[in-house]
Amino acid sequence: MTTKTENELIRPLNWWNALPREGYRSLERISTNQSWYSVYRIDPQTLVISEDGQFDENVSYLVMGEKRAALIDTGDNLADLRELVRGLTSLPVFVLNTHRHLDHIGANYLFDEVWAFDHRVSREAAALGVPQPHVLEVIQPGSLCKEIPAPFYEKAYCIPPYRITHWVRDGETIDLGGRTLEAIHTPGHSPDHLCFYEGRTRYLWTGDIFYTGCVYTHLPWGDLDVFLRTYEKLLERYDEFGLLMPSHNDPCIDKSVLREMHALALQARRGEGTYEAGEGGMRKYRGSCFSLVIGEKQADR
Ligand SMILES: [Zn+2]
Repeated sequence: MTTKTENELIRPLNWWNALPREGYRSLERISTNQSWYSVYRIDPQTLVISEDGQFDENVSYLVMGEKRAALIDTGDNLADLRELVRGLTSLPVFVLNTHRHLDHIGANYLFDEVWAFDHRVSREAAALGVPQPHVLEVIQPGSLCKEIPAPFYEKAYCIPPYRITHWVRDGETIDLGGRTLEAIHTPGHSPDHLCFYEGRTRYLWTGDIFYTGCVYTHLPWGDLDVFLRTYEKLLERYDEFGLLMPSHNDPCIDKSVLREMHALALQARRGEGTYEAGEGGMRKYRGSCFSLVIGEKQADR
């Protein structure tokens, strides 16, 4: 078997050929004064903000109640997300983080209120931000298919520290006025990971535990066994869920992929099935519209 580098394993060449993605085709596009973000309406009170000019295709959601709006994740900090959000709603906005990886916390520092799950890693991210050397992967050659708008300045690019103003507990209900989100602690990709569920619309915001693309359990603090337990916790509530709202690539995904991912992760855990091998013992297992990457020592071998 040939072993691929990490980039060869997880970054398809010419990734932009997949744009515009299927998940946006039936959504109404909203025009804004910012070129970097593409904004679509899922329903009158729920907007999706896509950074479709960068390989990770980060997706943030603006979930608007009658009293306030939750901004689920804040992307890479390549353009002014606060200014964009100001043009989309006059409600007070607070950030609700799915987890503390850099592609989800980039613009946190621009907002007065940031909510996250309490863990050593989320405290570290808030205190330190992400300094220049570690953010450069975001803009590495081949990662962009759109020009980053001025006043972006590459030499100053980083994720600044930010202040977490509320620690979200597992099972906590978050009242937006007329709509309520439930936080579900879902570690495995990252130990501080939260999903958010809304009973009225049956949307499940899955963060990085599911998206159409390469889902990771091999990163530092990732854990395939914990990931499997998270899936078991979610599958107990499978009938409640409607559409999935992931933090990368496509929004509005049919929930059947949750069962498929669970089966694939279980197979990977047992060391069964076929996979592509990457450097350092990485393995990539392919599903229908997604794949799963596990690290060395995560499977029975
Ligand atoms: Zn991510």
